[in-house]
Amino acid sequence: MIIKPMVRNNICINAHPEGCALETRRQIESILLRRAAYDRLAGPKTVLVVGCSTGYGLASRIVAAFGFGATTLGVSFERSPSESSAGTPGWYNNRTFDDEAAAAALRGRSFDGDAFSSGMKDQVIAAAREMGLRFDLVVYSLASPVRTDPVTGAVYRSVIKPIGGVYRGKTVDPFSKALSLAEVQPATAEEIAQTVKVMGGEDWELWIDALREADALSPSAVTVAYSYVGPELSWPIYRDGTIGRAKAHLEETARRLSSSGAIRAYVSINKALVTRASAVIPVIPLYVSVLYKVMKERGIHEDCIDQMDRLFRDRLYSGAKPAVDSEGRIRIDELEMGAAVQAEVGARIARVDDSDLSKLADVEGFRLDFLRAHGFAVDGVDYEADISPLSSHSGAGAAAPRDASVKG
Ligand code: NAD
Repeated sequence: MIIKPMVRNNICINAHPEGCALETRRQIESILLRRAAYDRLAGPKTVLVVGCSTGYGLASRIVAAFGFGATTLGVSFERSPSESSAGTPGWYNNRTFDDEAAAAALRGRSFDGDAFSSGMKDQVIAAAREMGLRFDLVVYSLASPVRTDPVTGAVYRSVIKPIGGVYRGKTVDPFSKALSLAEVQPATAEEIAQTVKVMGGEDWELWIDALREADALSPSAVTVAYSYVGPELSWPIYRDGTIGRAKAHLEETARRLSSSGAIRAYVSINKALVTRASAVIPVIPLYVSVLYKVMKERGIHEDCIDQMDRLFRDRLYSGAKPAVDSEGRIRIDELEMGAAVQAEVGARIARVDDSDLSKLADVEGFRLDFLRAHGFAVDGVDYEADISPLSSHSGAGAAAPRDASVKG
């Protein structure tokens, strides 16, 4: 079939197998080009990535495996393709990762299922035992709208809403390129609590506890989870809103985990980038589009793989203890948050209108990155070609044997 992007309410509900494979390989190749710099460092040998299939988690797994040569176990929740419909981007990305890792003689295993469940934790622990592994690094990179509590079975949903008052701010639709004023009603106490349950640190801590109890952590193990701070103009909807409460809980969890002595736990504050959910968050498409334009003009734009390359080489495994801010967090958002960049971005957002949108903001760059996250708009792919949704088209590694991808 011919696979074209199906975007509904700013969510893309399908993916292109060949585009996803090429994008994953592009990231792998960009790390292989920097390989000599990794050889000089003592990196992790065994890594677990929870949320491994897209965005920051996929980039972390690629850096660990293709940079440091680590054995990697990855967990993500994907929809498989059928003869007549495409799977999720992560399904194709995982296959490509597995194939390329096998071709490079890197050990690993990919698990497909709910990371919030106890069953998935048990499966990972059983695999670690069977493979004789203890993890040096656990990356926690989940982004999910929903979580089922593993003990009570209660279902919690996360929302992105302000707390205590209505939020109003300029935003842009990345597809129609229309500017508008977004208005979001404040969250209820119940919505705040549910968002913390989904995106806070509770499940991260459950993972670390389960791994520790199973003796699946190495004595010098480190864990890192990802967060975002962003500019003050986004704080009412982000940092001071429901998701910010969840991230504050994640940060508290890092402090608690570290003080338990079982592991060194960090939160890394990463740069704003376009991922699968970015187009539905009010203000973010406009902010990111302006930020992209300003950072590209200054030659300091980075993507997920650049960010994770810096996190691993310059922070976590530089040989020195990672530098942290006054709240104990690793910062790799310093180029985004630099005073000159933020002053320019803020001024542009304040004055932008329909007449100068394309001059002040890179909305097209946002749109293309969003499509690429689903395997569309990738250079070198023939989007008119007939292709089976079941094909993974991962090229070089496709002929090599794969360690089984386990369905959870
Ligand atoms: P993403 O949507 O690209 O990746 C999320 C991952 O979580 C995917 O692998 C998905 O399969 C997995 N996942 C979701 N629910 C799951 C479940 N129930 N079981 C197993 N796997 C599940 O998101 P991302 O943007 O890479 O975000 C990862 C983390 O980085 C989040 O904590 C996010 O807040 C943070 N972060 C993102 C940005 C940004 O701009 N994108 C910036 C800073 C920090």
